[in-house]
Amino acid sequence: MKRVHNFSAGPAVLPLEVLEKVQAELVNYRDKGASIIEMSHRGAEYTEINQQAGERLKEITGADDDWEVLFLQGGASTQFMMVPQNFLSSNQTADYIDTGSWSSKAIKEAKLFGNVHIPFSGKELNYSRLPETDELKPSEDPVYTHFTSNNTIFGTQFYSEPETGGSLLVCDASSDFLSHPININKYGLIYAGAQKNLGPAGVTVVMIRKSFLELQKKDPFPTILNYNTHIGTLFNTPPVFAVYMLNYVLEWLQQKGGLEWFDRFNTEKAYLLYSEIDKDDFYRGTVEKSSRSKMNVTFRLPDEELEKTFLTEAASNGLVALKGHRSVGGIRASIYNACEINSVKALVSFMQEFRAAKG
Ligand SMILES: *Cc1c(COP(=O)(O)O)cnc(C)c1O
Repeated sequence: MKRVHNFSAGPAVLPLEVLEKVQAELVNYRDKGASIIEMSHRGAEYTEINQQAGERLKEITGADDDWEVLFLQGGASTQFMMVPQNFLSSNQTADYIDTGSWSSKAIKEAKLFGNVHIPFSGKELNYSRLPETDELKPSEDPVYTHFTSNNTIFGTQFYSEPETGGSLLVCDASSDFLSHPININKYGLIYAGAQKNLGPAGVTVVMIRKSFLELQKKDPFPTILNYNTHIGTLFNTPPVFAVYMLNYVLEWLQQKGGLEWFDRFNTEKAYLLYSEIDKDDFYRGTVEKSSRSKMNVTFRLPDEELEKTFLTEAASNGLVALKGHRSVGGIRASIYNACEINSVKALVSFMQEFRAAKG
């Protein structure tokens, strides 16, 4: 069996150990004579998985009992709407830091519900960097401050939480959740589509603080969109397969050494790639060094023809899914938690050979 070096932005590479474990027990889960995806989501087997995954997320992030973990559907994109649906009234203001396409999409939805103030927008800089603390201009009394911790498309990342001037943070952490430690006390809600750094597509992790839920809107709105509906009970059938795999990814993450371990590991991988990019002018990073993402490494070559050749030759060397997002072009290497250091080293060697041949 030959696995490629997979740099897909999402759905992305998963730990081989987890895939093999799932493969081994897919047909017959723990001698029950059926797969976990053929059983009731209210039965003992799935109940245990759902609880364990929630507990693990709390342990890993250091969340206390004020926190609830929900496994929802509809992707991070549904959270763009669900957050303001629950928390933003027409006479209130929420702050949204605009650092890329995903932030902009979240802003568009929030504006359907209430006032949106933008403490910083990177739009005019073509999202090439994140704000300095003194560039953030918060509003008077925002209900919350929303930010995108890692900008999957442009390749920028907040290494620590932005200052808000008092309100709790709501974070779209889809492309870097559990890649490094966070200061959980600063957050009211964190959401992440699983398919980048956590597991397969189909489940969205939502961590929500009960004390933040007290700020929820009082007027009625559809049941399934209300976070309270999902707390402490399964309101409807959860994406059982995705949660089951997510639970194993969390186990794997804990066994490796948790967020500190992954912080070092991801920093090392990113360092290898950025050092290669910075060697001369052949490869050019697309964002400012101080904002560079350790998850999505974006760069350009001298011209688009060379970029095409780079992608084709990389693929024939088993290095796949390196094409930049269609809105920005160039090359993007996504190196999430499950990306092995060997894959990064193989990419660096290929970049060296390519430069030597074409530079
Ligand atoms: C991929 C991504 C999304 C969209 O996720 P879906 O699960 O497809 O809705 C949102 N935000 C960020 C930061 C992403 O990387």
